[in-house]
Amino acid sequence: MNDSLQARPSQSTNPEATAGERYDFFRVVQGYLRDAAALVEMPEDTLTILSQPKQEIIIHFPVRLDSGEIGLFKGYRIQHNNILGPYKGGIRYHEAVTLDDCKALASMMTWKCALMNLPLGGGKGGIKFDPRKYSSGELERITRRFIHALGSNIGPSHDVPAPDVGTNAQTMAWAMDTYVNTVGYLSHTSSKGVVTGKPLASGGTHGRAKATGQGLVHCIRYWAEEKDFTLEGSTVIVQGFGNVGSYSAALLSKLGVSMIAVGDHSGYLYNPEGFNPHKLQEYVRKHGSVAGYPAGQSIPREQFFRLKCDIFVPAALENQIGVAEASVMDTKLIAEGANGPCSPEGERILIERGIDILPDVLANSGGVTVSYYEWVQNNRSESWTLEEVDARLEVAMKRAYRKTMEMARQKNTTARLGAYAVALQRLMTVYAERRIWP
Ligand code: GLU
Repeated sequence: MNDSLQARPSQSTNPEATAGERYDFFRVVQGYLRDAAALVEMPEDTLTILSQPKQEIIIHFPVRLDSGEIGLFKGYRIQHNNILGPYKGGIRYHEAVTLDDCKALASMMTWKCALMNLPLGGGKGGIKFDPRKYSSGELERITRRFIHALGSNIGPSHDVPAPDVGTNAQTMAWAMDTYVNTVGYLSHTSSKGVVTGKPLASGGTHGRAKATGQGLVHCIRYWAEEKDFTLEGSTVIVQGFGNVGSYSAALLSKLGVSMIAVGDHSGYLYNPEGFNPHKLQEYVRKHGSVAGYPAGQSIPREQFFRLKCDIFVPAALENQIGVAEASVMDTKLIAEGANGPCSPEGERILIERGIDILPDVLANSGGVTVSYYEWVQNNRSESWTLEEVDARLEVAMKRAYRKTMEMARQKNTTARLGAYAVALQRLMTVYAERRIWP
């Protein structure tokens, strides 16, 4: 039997947390929602609607493993809100996936899409298992069974999944193929937009793989302009070297920013001369993690967070920067590539210490924005050039950055609550116009 069946105590993703103590991510996000709702004087009934997802789907599904045994897997899909358009958001494969974390992440997708002015709502899903322990054939069967089990709960005009932690373009190709061959077989072409983040040849878009990193780097550039900070010759530390971390590091290196430390689930590396992000990306693709990369010195997690740098990019999981980390970090800026990497207590300390934060819903929204471009291209049977995608993304990021910072200044609040407030204003306008049916 698959080990995903075994009951485990819920764990915080922060290894520093006391045993048994659980980080309540959904409550954290609900707290931001309440605070931002007060800033924009959102009507109480709209706040009540937005404080819970519309639908919570939990599925147990069997998969034949390479050994011949059957494993039973637990999958989630949370559909938080669709007043602006179809539910939109990634599918996460990770052993720590929980219903409540998916609820937190799904609601964050609602804020992200609203902030970015996309005609999309918020959703998130996941399967609770460690994908590293499974073969490619098993991953394909797990993905196909999950998408089949979701059936018409997803669809190009209803709910559109995408990659997240532990999934990638290949996962999306299997997902799209399964959907098209089961639910959507009568409308093959128009069903392609059921998921985004697909490989280019299978209906993906130019620029999606790097999109989250690209959007993050645009935000860092705007921040640097505002602060009169010279990026060339500065340093960055990156936690998590998957899609977001690796593309952020590579794009920053083009601007002359050198990555002096990097870490992932396997450990932390330091190299004061700077890593070559392209070579490291190649190494991680081959070996699965940064462990054993020859060009760096292995350091403990505690030292990693103390290293002096100009920019810190958390691009792994939530709740990585708590009180302990925030009290010792020696950086000017935290650009949140991950969703929810700073705990509220951590954020308070960072702000007190004069460290700026580019919040997740703004900083990592390049991913879903280019997902939207992919979906539009699929719906119209079009193919845009990389230049076109890049140009549109830049305009979208600049607008969202400007709106977030203007709101934060106007309300005298943090960039995070500024971003939430912009998103909530859009949502409350639509609720005020449409009300609820009947
Ligand atoms: N998983 C990504 C996120 O958290 C992308 C979602 C999407 O492209 O729909 O924003």
